[in-house]
Amino acid sequence: MAKSPPTLVWLRRDLRLADQPALHAALANGGPVIPVFIHAPDEEAPWQPGAASNWWLHHSLEALNAALTRQGSRLVLRSGPTLDTLRALVNETGATAVYWNRLYDPALVLRDQDIKAGLRADGLEVRSFNGHLLIEPWEVETGQGRPYKVFSPFWKACRQRGIDRDPLPAPETLPAPRAWPDSLSLEQLELLPTIDWAAGLQATWSPGEAGAHQRLEQFLPEAARDYAEGRERPDHDGTSRLSPYLHFGEISPRQVLRALREAGLDPESGGPEAFVRELGWRDFAHHVLYHFPHTPEQPLNPRFEAFAWRESQQDLVAWQQGRTGIPLVDAAMGQLWETGWMHNRLRMVVGSFLTKNLRLHWHLGASWFWDTLVDADLAANTLGWQWAGGCGADAAPYFRVFNPQRQGEQYDPEGTFVRRYLPVLKDTETRYIHAPSAGGTRGYPDAIVDLKASRLAALQAFEAVKNT
Ligand code: FAD
Repeated sequence: MAKSPPTLVWLRRDLRLADQPALHAALANGGPVIPVFIHAPDEEAPWQPGAASNWWLHHSLEALNAALTRQGSRLVLRSGPTLDTLRALVNETGATAVYWNRLYDPALVLRDQDIKAGLRADGLEVRSFNGHLLIEPWEVETGQGRPYKVFSPFWKACRQRGIDRDPLPAPETLPAPRAWPDSLSLEQLELLPTIDWAAGLQATWSPGEAGAHQRLEQFLPEAARDYAEGRERPDHDGTSRLSPYLHFGEISPRQVLRALREAGLDPESGGPEAFVRELGWRDFAHHVLYHFPHTPEQPLNPRFEAFAWRESQQDLVAWQQGRTGIPLVDAAMGQLWETGWMHNRLRMVVGSFLTKNLRLHWHLGASWFWDTLVDADLAANTLGWQWAGGCGADAAPYFRVFNPQRQGEQYDPEGTFVRRYLPVLKDTETRYIHAPSAGGTRGYPDAIVDLKASRLAALQAFEAVKNT
């Protein structure tokens, strides 16, 4: 009997072998499976991956290639344009099918539609799958048949629909083609920085599927139980830190849910329930981005188009470099720079500080995060920044301005976090750690803005928008 022809599996942000629907379906075809990654950042414009994301991607592709090699397979690397590249690979390998897992960023939705149409017109079998979310954006809608803009009813609808599905097993072996098509080397993709600023990232993270599972194992036992409270404390290791792994698809949310159950944790109550709700926020972010594709650039609430943002390069740079004179903000920006990640509470605090106390446009914050976060994700980052700016889905009300000093006193009461990322304050007495100018600390800048006065100015500016 003639052997089945090869299937191309086009890998994108699904850089894993287990619970990999496209790979699983390709295997079921019975012929050789050819995993391919096509580097085409221009096709993601204007949101081409930033520097920290590229660092992660390099290491993730390396890990995936090693895992595939252990299965008798390999990862074929090419650079775009994607449609031409897939066509070339089809010609070179005799593949008759191309499979992938879906993504939801606006530019990619349009690109993938074109690619699907183009390949189908060539007579190929083309299939796409959900490997990224618990519930895809079109699977739930409001009673009026519209997309959700508020999280709670969205999440209720998801739960009613059912979020728990069995993850697919990793393949035991992957049948190789008779001859492998040529591949670029990983170095040819030029993903690593030319000036090596990534030592902190290297020391903090292990990108790849194995690293994702290690991180999950570490998190599960104590943290999932204490998560409901622990998640608020930047001075504790109380959250999963799975965000970059989830973004690059090195682990799927279904696998995370399954691991909770296998560890005897009930995703319906207590800490595990609060944790699973965060996975719900991840789906919600994708739901909003998919249905409102203009939101990376424009506010979901159109009134905010008229908001009187300030312009100050000096203040922006002070915020970016962690020199605002507000310890919790500066330490948080230090955490971001050193590790490529920032605790969720701190993302809200620095977001509120930038958009409300400094009254600088949320775009500026979103762009800086985009370049520096290893988990930079268009859906979550857009939702987060519009939330901080008060102009998005389920956003913080405009009058909610975090007081970063009080946030510090509440969530980093001993100053452990601040001391870790601001060594200049390491000997400051705890009672002054969140207000060092009161304690006369040397070598640390005075606050660049008066928290009370800037809060009032922000409220006035928001009041003006409210009445437009
Ligand atoms: P956990 O608390 O362990 O949560 C588990 C997972 O749930 C996370 O890994 C993440 O995938 C998801 N999740 C948690 N909170 C949210 C949320 N509010 N929105 C969407 N998904 C969520 N998250 C990103 O993944 N990428 C971003 O670019 C991003 N930018 C943000 C910008 C701002 C201004 C704000 C306020 C939040 C942003 N977030 C972003 C959401 C959140 O801060 C991070 O997902 C979280 O801090 C990641 O840490 P963790 O994995 O330990 O989270």
